[in-house]
Amino acid sequence: MTQHYTLIIVGGGPIGIACGLAAKKAGLDYLILEKGCLTNSLFNYPLNMTFFSTSERLEIGGIPFVSNNVKPTRPEALEYYRRVTLSNHLHIHLQEGVKDITRTGDQYTVHTSHASYTASHIIIATGFYDIPIRLNVPGEELPKVVHYYKEGHFYALQKVIVVGASNSAVDAALETWRKGAEVTMVVRKEKIGDRVKYWVKPDMENRIKEGSIKAYFNATLKAIREQEVDIDTPDGVVTIANDYVIALTGYQPNFDFLRRVGIQLSDDALLQPTYNPDTMESNLPNVYLAGVVCGGMNTHVWFIENSREHAEKIVQAIVEKKEVH
Ligand code: FAD
Repeated sequence: MTQHYTLIIVGGGPIGIACGLAAKKAGLDYLILEKGCLTNSLFNYPLNMTFFSTSERLEIGGIPFVSNNVKPTRPEALEYYRRVTLSNHLHIHLQEGVKDITRTGDQYTVHTSHASYTASHIIIATGFYDIPIRLNVPGEELPKVVHYYKEGHFYALQKVIVVGASNSAVDAALETWRKGAEVTMVVRKEKIGDRVKYWVKPDMENRIKEGSIKAYFNATLKAIREQEVDIDTPDGVVTIANDYVIALTGYQPNFDFLRRVGIQLSDDALLQPTYNPDTMESNLPNVYLAGVVCGGMNTHVWFIENSREHAEKIVQAIVEKKEVH
């Protein structure tokens, strides 16, 4: 028999967990479904990353997050969200991805890699970190090209190209350079990104100014080969020797999944999902959006700090609807 829940939450990231906490507190019968490990996106962040947020701004369900320094590290965040999940006995299935959600009358069927469930309400909290924005250049499929950066040691004494100028790219460029890589940045715009952490930006700019890290601005990577790359620069195409390419040009939500489920996306380049900002309910009745997935291609608009409040908003809307019926 298909198991029925009042609420199914798709995604076990910080915001999916926050939704689970709020659902539990409200006494709702809920299940969180996560396709990977717990807080899968955070697990795949660079090993040594430090959050730009202070720890209290990453707290969910009012549970204190204690970190060694003001801004927590990835291992501290993994520790926190795991402890919150386990100590609250949240009802979660890991390694169980949602493939599709179909509607029959006022009920939804959630089809996963393992089973099917029915639910009256659904929260989609699937984030944006699973799909990198690709460079779409010849050679991108070579094993020396990565879209996720882990740590610097591997790149010691290697010629590394870092594509991008956001926080991730700047962290990777500085870290690999400090581990002895010869780093060249390829930056599409005329300068390092304005949203780069204020305490990191001068470090990056000074390394470029002093020539320790080479940077091509207003430039794009044109082609990648085994031992060299072509860079399109304002002065023409430059070919340089290269061992590895770290392409950190951003990530995007799984729009195919959202469309398949029936979530309306704006018809401009932002592909902004439709939802009511008061309740977070999408164009589909009783299907809600939570967390960073809400931004569409505007992935810098929502983060944990400002989207954790989605959890209580949504659960309150569900409880009010249940009371009316
Ligand atoms: P995610 O954490 O991405 O969680 C979504 C989950 O859904 C994932 O675990 C994924 O595996 C799962 N999932 C996806 N599809 C399915 C499916 N079909 N079925 C089941 N499960 C699925 N924000 C801050 O507030 N402060 C910071 O300092 C900060 N630093 C960041 C640093 C980096 C490097 C990045 C990339 C982001 C950072 N963010 C930060 C932004 C943002 O807050 C995080 O991306 C955060 O993880 C968003 O939480 P979320 O729960 O909405 O999404």
